[in-house]
Amino acid sequence: MLYFFKILVLGNPGIIKQKKINLEEEIKKFLQKKNKGKFPITDKTFCFTCEIIKPLRSKHDKILDKCIAKFDHTCGFTLNCVGYKNHDLFVIFLVITITVQTIFVWLCYCLVKEYQFEKSDESIESNNEIWDILAQVYQKQPWILSAVIQTIVFIFWETFLVLQQLRNVVANLTTNERINLKRYLHFYKEGQYCNPFDLGWKNNLLQFFKINYIVDWYNVKEYNEIPFRNEKYFAKSLQEI
Ligand SMILES: [Zn+2]
Repeated sequence: MLYFFKILVLGNPGIIKQKKINLEEEIKKFLQKKNKGKFPITDKTFCFTCEIIKPLRSKHDKILDKCIAKFDHTCGFTLNCVGYKNHDLFVIFLVITITVQTIFVWLCYCLVKEYQFEKSDESIESNNEIWDILAQVYQKQPWILSAVIQTIVFIFWETFLVLQQLRNVVANLTTNERINLKRYLHFYKEGQYCNPFDLGWKNNLLQFFKINYIVDWYNVKEYNEIPFRNEKYFAKSLQEI
């Protein structure tokens, strides 16, 4: 667990390296390739801080001040970004943390049961066994109760996060894309939501954990370069995007 935490805090989340390029020349080439110059130069397509043409699904992170490939979110807990390189580790870390914390709560419960607090404590008047035990733990070992309550709160929060992440992973969306869905026009076709990256939930999972359908999100800059994509989306005219 600590190993994963170290990677998530100190590791590279998928920083896109700045190449020494002639930006003007690169933009010119890019525009010639894309819609004969009709493609708009916006902060969605170019990062003027990193001086790069932004790969698809990347975003400039203000804290790291770098563009992150397949940006998911900035994690307040690890103070680092979650992106292409560490997104799968982030989800695995959450699952391991929830498991370890659940075992901790269970062990505390067993310890309290084993300790066999006396029921005859006169200061506690309750017929409810659980409340009786909790009240006695609070009186005799308040740190256990405090640690268990905090851990249970964390378990709920982390479970909520994991479910949110899994919901995104099976739909092949990042948290950033889910939150800002309406800002990204390529998720809509004829006014209807349609995800060009969606390969079906099984394949999306394989892609997320880098087992199969691996895409180099550092370098894919336009839709034609995606090696694995939602063919239903691309069956219709690309001009509508
Ligand atoms: Zn940038």
